Amino acid sequence: MGNLNPTHSRSTPGAQTLIIETPATYPAERHYILTALLADWLGLPWQRVDAQREDTRIRMAGHNGEILMPDVLFQTAPQTWLTSSSLPSRPLAVWDTAELGLEVNLISRHLPVIYGDHRSPMSSLAPGRICLPLDVFGSAFFMLTRYEEVVIPERDQHDRFPARASLAYQESFLERPLIDEYVQVLRASIEYLWPGAAKPVPEPEMRLTHDVDAPARYALGGFGRMLIHLAADVVKRRAIRSLVSGPRAWIRGPRALDPADPFNCFDWIMDLSEKHGLRSAFYFIAGWTDSQKKPNYDIEMPAIRRLLRRIHDRGHEIGLHPSYNTYQQPDLIAAEAARLKLVCAGEGIQEKAWGGRMHFLRWRTPTTLYGWEQAGMTYDSTLGYSDHAGFRCGTCREYQAFDPVASRSLNLRLRPLIAMETTIIGKKHMGLGVGEAAYEVFLKLKRACRAVNGAFTLLWHNSKLMTTRDKTLYQAVLAA
Ligand SMILES: [Zn+2]
Repeated sequence: MGNLNPTHSRSTPGAQTLIIETPATYPAERHYILTALLADWLGLPWQRVDAQREDTRIRMAGHNGEILMPDVLFQTAPQTWLTSSSLPSRPLAVWDTAELGLEVNLISRHLPVIYGDHRSPMSSLAPGRICLPLDVFGSAFFMLTRYEEVVIPERDQHDRFPARASLAYQESFLERPLIDEYVQVLRASIEYLWPGAAKPVPEPEMRLTHDVDAPARYALGGFGRMLIHLAADVVKRRAIRSLVSGPRAWIRGPRALDPADPFNCFDWIMDLSEKHGLRSAFYFIAGWTDSQKKPNYDIEMPAIRRLLRRIHDRGHEIGLHPSYNTYQQPDLIAAEAARLKLVCAGEGIQEKAWGGRMHFLRWRTPTTLYGWEQAGMTYDSTLGYSDHAGFRCGTCREYQAFDPVASRSLNLRLRPLIAMETTIIGKKHMGLGVGEAAYEVFLKLKRACRAVNGAFTLLWHNSKLMTTRDKTLYQAVLAA
């Protein structure tokens, strides 16, 4: 063993404190990811010490036993940090966890190795010693901070990093929470050596969220937009009644939402959430930053103020949906958040924790993070791909945000988005329609979240519950 220098400022380690011996490189990054995985998720106090070694060694203060694992990402030379040569070597090796001989709850026993032992990923289990072939901390850092999105320039027509450019999609693990699975392996190893150390696994959750792009189909917008919707209703859906309800809603305009308007299904959504003992979160647009993508409402309209009050009175959550061109301008996100909070305050609405999601899931790491932080928001729930559902960050758990460019933790929590209805249903994306095939994908993702005791965060727009088939699918996903 080499020289040990405690780098984490707690004095003497108490019982049940993990001692993490690692090389001295990237101390801020190591501090961040050790806090996220060990303290935040596993509830374990820890202390890192610099050691003259090439791997990571985990011990428990006052106890025997050790866990050894490779240290790969944080061995990256400083000049290649955040460049393509620091990305994982592909194709990824696959480790068969069965050879470890520990009981671990995984989506599949075969784990792709993001960073770790690439040649022949093998583990070993001996009395007092477990060797894992995974660089758990480096791999988690890579996925949670969206490292690759800073490195890879590919973008879609809305300037978004597409799923197809991601390691997870290319290596076929986007539909599993791979980092949560790594942490399950780590938890099982810790429990094997030091029983009772980690905090109990949390209960799985479901988070229902609704981006309010359009609270009304006919009212609030221009006359032309109403006519387009009416024509579509009559031609595509044979909804002749729209010829009466559409113009009636339009005349009522911003004063009150029409109860017959198909987008005005907020009470239906809340009824269903309550039936499942859940609280829905509704994210509202509070600004206008693109001439082509003007929202069809303004939060100051009397009809919207009434809707905000209604949601709040029923005990559901109100949050922010920053408008189309805000994702690279923190000041604009902060301004829209301030406007939403002001309108809410005027209606007597105060949230304990404010959060939301970017319109169109537009996102730029790390700039967008700063917008949310500057806005004083507690959490963001944008990080899922619009072109393919799944685990963009490798996890379904909430975690602290970190800027991999400035090497700094932010005062912001991230709640990854696992599935948006349009992604799975829509022709432009996975194109599965509203039948059995789509249901199976929702179910697979929900089960994957449940298997790792995480949170299934679902986005379902109020404007995508027009037909009985839409509603049936949504109900089935909730009930599954
Ligand atoms: Zn939106």
